[in-house]
Amino acid sequence: MNTTTNANLFSRLFDGLDDPNRLAIEQLDGSRISYGDLIARAGQMANVLVERGVRPGDRVAAQTEKSVSALVLYLATVRAGGVYLPLNTAYTLNELEYFITDAEPSLVVCDPAKLDGIKAIAAKVETLDASGKGSLTEAADKAAKEFATVPRANNDLAAILYTSGTTGRSKGAMLSHDNLASNSYSLVDYWRFTDKDVLIHALPIYHTHGLFVASNVTLFARASMIFLPKFDPDAILKLMARATVMMGVPTFYTRLLQNPGLNKDATKHMRLFISGSAPLLADTHREWSARTGHAVLERYGMTETNMNTSNPYDGDRVPGAVGFALPGVTVRVTDPETGKELARETIGMIEVKGPNVFQGYWRMPEKTKSEFRGDGFFITGDLGKIDDKGYVHILGRGKDLVISGGFNVYPKEIESEIDAMPGVIESAVIGVPHADFGEGVTAVLVCSKGADVSEASVLKALDGRLAKFKMPKRVFVVDELPRNAMGKVQKNILRDTYKDIYAK
Ligand code: AMP
Repeated sequence: MNTTTNANLFSRLFDGLDDPNRLAIEQLDGSRISYGDLIARAGQMANVLVERGVRPGDRVAAQTEKSVSALVLYLATVRAGGVYLPLNTAYTLNELEYFITDAEPSLVVCDPAKLDGIKAIAAKVETLDASGKGSLTEAADKAAKEFATVPRANNDLAAILYTSGTTGRSKGAMLSHDNLASNSYSLVDYWRFTDKDVLIHALPIYHTHGLFVASNVTLFARASMIFLPKFDPDAILKLMARATVMMGVPTFYTRLLQNPGLNKDATKHMRLFISGSAPLLADTHREWSARTGHAVLERYGMTETNMNTSNPYDGDRVPGAVGFALPGVTVRVTDPETGKELARETIGMIEVKGPNVFQGYWRMPEKTKSEFRGDGFFITGDLGKIDDKGYVHILGRGKDLVISGGFNVYPKEIESEIDAMPGVIESAVIGVPHADFGEGVTAVLVCSKGADVSEASVLKALDGRLAKFKMPKRVFVVDELPRNAMGKVQKNILRDTYKDIYAK
């Protein structure tokens, strides 16, 4: 195999680079890393990985703070033919033990603070701290920059990302070189990325959004990114004066909207705002448009599939919808029981097929089999519909569906009604054990300061707007909803908090 036919993501990202001096990454301290530097640093680190015994197909697990070195570790692992396995920085040692035992990485890279604990559970460990320094970079600094990228085939694994696992054990989604490359190519095209783009990168890089969507798309386009260690609304607002694109989770948008400096002038250099990983409230979409003149482009994806759908670049970016299937991806909605395809506008299970869809769950062949249909469609677990214009709408995870008195209640439908009430910022509707109904529909909401919203006022406003079986039996007003780092509302926590409210 020569380099032009090498399916290794690294070769596909960097072969044929026109100008090594082209800027790839800049940081808030003013440091700038060119494409040439990035390739050289990945070469040095790949040499260290090989020297530490990483062979093609071996896993390299990393629980590190976000830094350019951590991104280089991802690129180096892929370049060496290894399988990159990033781990959420929030995981405790106890949780890490599960991942390390399950994935059997040949090398673990962690923060120096966790070194002793990890040494007890992993054979080979290197360190990398928040500033991107550690035993790994010390060794890499001395290593040769040249490294022959290891040839890989399309379906060889490039990464394993564990799903967040809110129900049961977390599963390792196996992603191939072609899964990642094909999706990035599509997105560069769909979102019109060019080498003139400057991306504000404030997402974590242990998740598909920040690692693959943001980083791969930027590098494929030969664009550059401003790498922020974390989400910082003030810094982002300033950066908008010279950046062109921001990718964020919905909380980025709601938090930025709280900043009085956000207006048309502050965003006039930007060409695109993209949101995903959790639903962007239609209200947030509208408010953002009104304040900035930019319609946020919402897309839908998941760890297992990369990106599936996107609102159009040209044409209507519909608030509350996630757009059309990306080129090469097929999305259908089926009856969850029979798998039969449903007509437009009918709610069912979202299924996807395409080069973006993963290779299965690590060492879980039975689980993998049960999540695919015989014709190759992956059952996403998300409920939704395709409207008569072809836009996909997500109505929530299947496991969040409430079944009350034998009737299906789709939380999003009730949340949309509640969110539209004056004084309500957002809401989450959950099902809680109920002796008579199986589950009792329960609403938890957040209101703006001083708003005159109560359980009685919400129930009164919903009366007549919703069928009786969909009406919440209880309504709770709270200060904020529990969210994970990607901005997803953690309904499992809410279900736990309110689990006894209907106990007799
Ligand atoms: P993750 O694997 O952590 O990326 O989570 C994937 C899940 O996030 C999907 O299955 C959806 O439930 C949800 N999700 C991602 N993007 C969106 C979106 N734009 N709107 C609604 N839900 C989304």
